[in-house]
Amino acid sequence: MPIYEYTCVSCGDRFEKLRPVTRMDDPAPCPACGGDSSRQLSVFAAFSSGSDGEAAAVPGAGGGCGGCGPGGCGCAMTV
Ligand SMILES: [Zn+2]
Repeated sequence: MPIYEYTCVSCGDRFEKLRPVTRMDDPAPCPACGGDSSRQLSVFAAFSSGSDGEAAAVPGAGGGCGGCGPGGCGCAMTV
């Protein structure tokens, strides 16, 4: 089951939820204030294990190479 990252539109809190792909667009209430949140581009669950909510330091995440699609980049997988 993939992990999806959400950002609260009210207080800006970031949190992750583990949920089925079929429910990826379901509303995810903010755990801090209960407000609405928007889903961010998902990261691979393998890359965010052990994370406390911050996964921005993962190289290749987000398709930064410019040659591959977001989340599908093969350029950073050769290490
Ligand atoms: Zn909030």
